[in-house]
Amino acid sequence: MKEQTALYLLKPGELMLKGGNRGTFVKILIGNLAAMLRGTGAFITRTEGRLYVNCPLEKQAACEDALSRLAGLSGWARARRSEKTEEALMAAAVDEARICHDGGARSFKVEARRTDKGFPLNSYQICRMAGDKIVNAMPSFKVDVHSPDATINIELREHAYIYGAERRGLRGLPVGVSGRGMLLLSGGIDSPVAGYLMALRGMRIFAVYFHAYPYTPDEARQKVVRLAGILGGYAMGVNLSVVSFTKVEQRIKDAAAPGWSTVLLRMAMMECASSLAYGKRCRCLITGESLGQVASQTIENMTCAESRARLPVLRPLIGLDKESIIRHAVKIGTYETSILPYQDCCAVFSPPHPVIHAAPDEAAALYDSLNLGPLLAEAVSTEAGPSRDTDGLPAGRADFGT
Ligand code: ATP
Ligand code: MG
Repeated sequence: MKEQTALYLLKPGELMLKGGNRGTFVKILIGNLAAMLRGTGAFITRTEGRLYVNCPLEKQAACEDALSRLAGLSGWARARRSEKTEEALMAAAVDEARICHDGGARSFKVEARRTDKGFPLNSYQICRMAGDKIVNAMPSFKVDVHSPDATINIELREHAYIYGAERRGLRGLPVGVSGRGMLLLSGGIDSPVAGYLMALRGMRIFAVYFHAYPYTPDEARQKVVRLAGILGGYAMGVNLSVVSFTKVEQRIKDAAAPGWSTVLLRMAMMECASSLAYGKRCRCLITGESLGQVASQTIENMTCAESRARLPVLRPLIGLDKESIIRHAVKIGTYETSILPYQDCCAVFSPPHPVIHAAPDEAAALYDSLNLGPLLAEAVSTEAGPSRDTDGLPAGRADFGT
């Protein structure tokens, strides 16, 4: 019989290990998947240890795209469902093997999992029998149990499911299980990757971009909006705020001691981001900093910047080198946009000889002497962008002690 819909078998990832939380986590995973599949006509079913998606044949590409961007899946595969008879099972295994063989695989193994213990054959017998049938049907397809080109999987559950090519999922945790984080999103390569890594740890991402128009052109802002959109494809949407930082940056540029502007600007960003984060019930700040990558990212300078943060600052890239960060950026599709040439404010304002090992006391005195409080409050009031508060976390305050 010809298939009416495409069936996908999904393996939830590490969330299955989380004991008492499992129910909530799976519910959030399903909710995220349903949101991604909205409008495709696909539907999701759940059994112990597995999820299934049935989607209209013409929507397969959209469905596969969603599955490849869903945090919390360890793997997924296009599968076929068969009756739980020996004959139907073997025929489906041979069909699936043929697809792999036609796709270029030269060796295979069969793996069987049986939660239905009522089936007359055990897993080992199923593997043996399916292996024999496949070799009989395609003598050039060789068994290799150690490093096969293809693995034919047979799962005996409430139905029998057979699948060949399994795709690796993004892994991680479903977005939404770890609360909210406020990402400092610039137009560079690093911060979108930092947001992606935290989204994969289950964090819902809010983002702030500090815009210094006209020192930075509107194209720089548009670039950040686009990056937030790409990141949102993995993070179940990103709530981006754009804050006008022109006056703050101008004050720093005019009044800061030589070499100090980058450190002082970072301190101001941390203070302002904290305030926004409270208002949006975020529990941490997230930056794209990586130790030693540039002058402003020494441990001393980061310590100074952090001194004005009022929430924990998470730096998921801290130990990564640029090459691995770029690999991530290419994989998630932000790289091409990040390398567009529009300069961000920091590049425009950075001094020729920046302070590299800033002393906290000196930084605090210089920062306080700038009296940025009123300008920061004004900056927050310029915030533009959507804001949604839906997950019931306690409300915080947005203020500046001046
Ligand atoms: P990125 O590639 O993320 O821009 P970078 O290597 O250019 O990072 P910096 O310019 O020193 O490093 O910025 C360090 C971090 O500060 C960024 O990763 C980002 O989190 C934050 N940041 C810098 N500029 C801005 C900005 N204009 N708006 C929001 N956050 C910013
Ligand atoms: Mg940058």
